[in-house]
Amino acid sequence: MTTSIAFLGLGHMGGPMAVNLIAAGYSVTGFDLLPAAVSSARAAGITVAQSAADAVASADIVITMLPAGRHVIAAYTGTDEQPGLLSIARPGTLFIDSSTIAVDDARAAHDLAVAAGHRGMDAPVSGGVVGAEAGTLAFMVGGSDEDFATALPILEVMGKRIVHCGESGLGQAAKVCNNMILGISMIAVSEAFVLGEKLGLSHQALFDVASNASGQCWALTTNCPVPGPVETSPANRDYAPGFAGALMAKDLGLAEQALASTGVQAELGSLASAIYRRFAEGSGATSDFSGIITDIRERSSAPGAS
Ligand code: NAD
Repeated sequence: MTTSIAFLGLGHMGGPMAVNLIAAGYSVTGFDLLPAAVSSARAAGITVAQSAADAVASADIVITMLPAGRHVIAAYTGTDEQPGLLSIARPGTLFIDSSTIAVDDARAAHDLAVAAGHRGMDAPVSGGVVGAEAGTLAFMVGGSDEDFATALPILEVMGKRIVHCGESGLGQAAKVCNNMILGISMIAVSEAFVLGEKLGLSHQALFDVASNASGQCWALTTNCPVPGPVETSPANRDYAPGFAGALMAKDLGLAEQALASTGVQAELGSLASAIYRRFAEGSGATSDFSGIITDIRERSSAPGAS
């Protein structure tokens, strides 16, 4: 029998992910609160239910791709306007949350699902809209071995690298840890390029040295923040994302929550979060996160900066 999937949240990521599941032969019923998302989903061939409850009632698997943890918890438990999905789904339904949310929220969502007689796992992604469309996302999964085995064929339709990170919450843990490395390293690479500029060093010379030396990292060699050395990096397209600064700010905010709840003293992680939060309030709201270099350069040219 065909696995029946309810897909809630048909936005930039959820829409194309649902389309890939349909193309792979799954029976998918979607739902979104936003009329614009509903129309684009219908135009892309997704069957959209009248309500989340209608989408979930006969599903074997419920996938959520929502903005934040509060949306996931509210969808699971209900609001004044909508009944909770956990009370509507058939017993034993597998709830897979692919939104990027706090580790503690992911654990709470899992516990709520299990307490209501269901199964739950977190499976956040990286790879952006391009990866969602191409079915090449990376999934970081937190959940039991049994639930992972059930979800794997479905995740393989939407992604090309699927890592089972451990029990519930550990998919989100892997995502925040990775993105904390990424945020810090992009700032480090950008600061080094601006320092090199001030010292008279060409971008290419610094790239040729650092990319073959101990400064080598993804922020330098794949998403290089200066135009020139890496043809495909957003810096060559006036910092069109890519991965928007606002999303990096969001993910570093989740890392900060995890730092606070564990007591880890990650000074650079906290600082990177503050730097990206400020960036996201300006041009970083829409530009690629590597555009942080323009912010560093502007501050370095401010009166009194040199
Ligand atoms: P989006 O805002 O485009 O889509 C989210 C959708 O969820 C919206 O259409 C919204 O109307 C809908 N929604 C909210 N509450 C709902 C509910 N109760 N029921 C049904 N629909 C509801 O966001 P996105 O870019 O698709 O991102 C989704 C998640 O994926 C976020 O957690 C984000 O951090 C994460 N993510 C995004 C990217 C990216 O590049 N966009 C990359 C990796 C991870």
